[in-house]
Amino acid sequence: MMNPVRPQARNEAGDLLFKCQHCASPLVVNAAAAGMTLNCQRCGNPTLVPVQSATPSPTAPTELTDLQRKLKENESQRTEVTGYINQLSIQLHRWKLRLQTLNERKTELEEERRRTT
Ligand SMILES: [Zn+2]
Repeated sequence: MMNPVRPQARNEAGDLLFKCQHCASPLVVNAAAAGMTLNCQRCGNPTLVPVQSATPSPTAPTELTDLQRKLKENESQRTEVTGYINQLSIQLHRWKLRLQTLNERKTELEEERRRTT
């Protein structure tokens, strides 16, 4: 999902190019949304749309852009792993609830057996 790099941050249509505050994925919105909070298309977290486009720095040293790329990559992987952990935590919680229900049922059944004998 690599977007082609725009020659200019702000194009004719008045789009704003910026990065998600959480997962740093590149986002493009209409300039009318400047200053608003939108949900990121990738991670779903609310992120602030800047009034001005993030200015790409073509003069940045290669090492720095490489570090930024690695940092971004790391961040998106962190988001991904956090998502997995959250999912599994919910799953674990469900299984615990299920076990609790089964334990309660067991107690009920044992109670019933004691009464009938
Ligand atoms: Zn995001």
